[in-house]
Amino acid sequence: MMETQSEASNQTNAASYKKTARTKLKRRHLNGSYDKQVVHDILDSGLVCHVGFIADGRPVVTPTAYWRMGESIYFHGSAASRTLKSLSGGIPVCVTVSHLDGIVHARSGFNSCMNYRAVMIFGEAEPVTDPAEKASCLDGLLNRLAPGRAAQSKPTSRQELKATAVLRLALNEVSAKVRAGGVGDDEEDQKLDYWAGIVPVKMVVGEPIDDVDLRPGIPRPDNITKIRLGR
Ligand SMILES: Cc1cc2nc3c(=O)[nH]c(=O)nc-3n(C[C@H](O)[C@H](O)[C@H](O)COP(=O)(O)OP(=O)(O)OC[C@H]3O[C@@H](n4cnc5c(N)ncnc54)[C@H](O)[C@@H]3O)c2cc1C
Repeated sequence: MMETQSEASNQTNAASYKKTARTKLKRRHLNGSYDKQVVHDILDSGLVCHVGFIADGRPVVTPTAYWRMGESIYFHGSAASRTLKSLSGGIPVCVTVSHLDGIVHARSGFNSCMNYRAVMIFGEAEPVTDPAEKASCLDGLLNRLAPGRAAQSKPTSRQELKATAVLRLALNEVSAKVRAGGVGDDEEDQKLDYWAGIVPVKMVVGEPIDDVDLRPGIPRPDNITKIRLGR
């Protein structure tokens, strides 16, 4: 059934995404969330997503950079890219973002698992065609990589803009799933003499390295020195 305009705007203003038949968690549903803040936090902690779609009758999953602006995520690439060309046609797409937070070593191999935060998005992407909007979206990517970076970079030329495809995927049909916390051994296994515990995993941003061809006297900007990506 078609969504009416007021239903669509309710969804925009709501604190949660509407659960659909597709986004209803069946496995470990208590770890699921449709809360917009939870979803946004997970999306804003990442830089790389996996874009799944059908090309020539076969599933393809492409890892690529993404960034969120409001209630959409964006990805970009060469206008000649198979992924971007396929998605520009408005075909169904499923995008995932996942963060590994810890390796959970249970006493039993069966209950060993991972702590994670993940988001899954279903929809159809649409190309951003207006050149000014496209340029502003691409600034959004640079600013995601380092706050204020767009103003510190050479603006994208008209030709570069033409060669770049930018796609927008609205956050409508979305779910989050989070596994956090301790070891989940069965009660009888907790008496066993095996080590159990958690090895935390974090994304680490290293010390910036100046380009070898950097012109003399160009200081490293503060936003680069202080860059913190992810959580
Ligand atoms: C780092 C990491 C490691 C994982 N390791 C394992 C593993 O080893 N074994 C395992 O079985 N599972 C693992 N998972 C969980 C896995 O992603 C699935 O949630 C799980 O396998 C159930 O899949 P399903 O298709 O049966 O889910 P269902 O519950 O049938 O999925 C229904 C709907 O729930 C939502 N959903 C399901 N999973 C996710 C998710 N991860 N994020 C956001 N929304 C979701 C989607 O909208 C989906 O369409 C891992 C997840 C992450 C992020």
